[in-house]
Amino acid sequence: MSSEDRLIPASIKENNLTWGRAQEISYQNRLTCLLLLLLTPFWVSFLWASCTYYNCSVVNIIYDFFASLSEGTLFEFLIKVTPAPTFKGFGLYIFWVLFQALMYMYWPSNIGTGQMTPAGNILSYRVNGLRVWVVTHILFILGASITGLYSMAIIQENWGALLIATNCLGYLLTVFVYFKAYYFPTHKEDCKFSGSTIYDLYMGIEHNPRIGDTFDFKLFFNGRPGIVAWTLINLSFAVAQYKQLGFVTNSMVLLNFLHAIYVVDFFYFEDWYLRTIDIAHDHFGYYLAWGDCVWLPFTYTLQSHYIYRNPESLSWFSFIFVLTIGLVGYYIFRHANNQKDLVRKSDGNINIWGAPARFIRASYTTSDNKVHNSILLTSGFWGISRHFNYIGDLLMCLSFGMACGLQFDFIPYYYLIYMTILLVHRISRDQDRCKAKYGIFWDQYCEAVPYKLIPFIY
Ligand code: NDP
Repeated sequence: MSSEDRLIPASIKENNLTWGRAQEISYQNRLTCLLLLLLTPFWVSFLWASCTYYNCSVVNIIYDFFASLSEGTLFEFLIKVTPAPTFKGFGLYIFWVLFQALMYMYWPSNIGTGQMTPAGNILSYRVNGLRVWVVTHILFILGASITGLYSMAIIQENWGALLIATNCLGYLLTVFVYFKAYYFPTHKEDCKFSGSTIYDLYMGIEHNPRIGDTFDFKLFFNGRPGIVAWTLINLSFAVAQYKQLGFVTNSMVLLNFLHAIYVVDFFYFEDWYLRTIDIAHDHFGYYLAWGDCVWLPFTYTLQSHYIYRNPESLSWFSFIFVLTIGLVGYYIFRHANNQKDLVRKSDGNINIWGAPARFIRASYTTSDNKVHNSILLTSGFWGISRHFNYIGDLLMCLSFGMACGLQFDFIPYYYLIYMTILLVHRISRDQDRCKAKYGIFWDQYCEAVPYKLIPFIY
């Protein structure tokens, strides 16, 4: 056996498959994708309506739904809780997406490098998110305060109409990238056809759909219309609260601050983001296209909507307590992610927690049959569990919920519940993919770091 042969994981050699590619799609998978394709917009509308008409009480909206059924007024109820499209909503959203697209393409930018794709491509990306975030916020604030043409509460005031507009783009984009993959794919060899239309629509076919060399759909839609908007949406709800009460509660200030840490971190470390699962491994379908256009801006900001409808201030003790949880979470999140990124960038030549980094040298094969080397870190946060970076994220999610008040309510903790499901599911997806990619090296890694998330528990 040649040394190269030994480096190719047996699972790939035996099945002649390449990681990140061929996969059995079960009927349950297809059904789940179909349900998500059809129902997620209604779920987001339900959350929007419970906040808009029921002060973010999901219990009350459900109660009214059943009451309307028994009273025969279901139609009136549905009319009341369904967001209405408006020309203004569409106009604002079209302007927003075009403005962000122009900034993404033409504002001065560094060039970042992505991870090697399953077909062996290494792509470069325009990385100017932080600059675009700063400029957009300055323009939004100055535009409102100097020209007086609009109020900073404009997003909150048009939130329902924007929900319709974002859904339209989310679905159009899903269909567009589906057909693009068939008729003019960017990297044909990196397409993943599963044999199921529903699955392909949902999970996507193209790995890195692009227009030209530089307009990258995944990086643009995930970062720009969605994440740049995140802090603007929060700001808009804070301004709406000021208009309503004459002051802003400390809970709203705290939430805006904690969310801003997460968002600014994302753009400050945008180059790192190019090597995370979203960009490096996921394909671009409804999951990311609609998710970036609708799910992200509407569900990640539910807490500011909640505080706007339930304007409670926190005691200073609670304020400091919640802030501390958020900052500890951020510390773990950022340091864990940096450790993984830096150990690979330095080819293992760094110290972690005062000692030389420990790691496994692994190799994998791309579909052009070339063998490549990589590193699996086994010390620092990556020696505690295989996804300790997720713990940091979950602590931050907890602090976002607690910023709304220490009492339990569904909407403030919705994001924590959702992220827990997303990340636990991601762990199992990642486990399968890494096993297929690294074979025996992944087994060695799992032996060295046996826990997936929480030591001795999971
Ligand atoms: P990770 O950053 O944990 O990336 C996992 C990948 O890293 C694996 O697929 C593997 O890829 C590589 N890897 C795994 N173990 C090791 C190791 N020991 N040493 C070196 N490389 C390793 O996952 P995500 O991309 O999901 O998350 C990145 C961050 O983003 C997390 O902090 C997460 O919490 C956050 N996040 C936030 C979301 C949100 O919506 N707010 C959604 C999802 C994530 P390979 O070897 O192929 O490079």
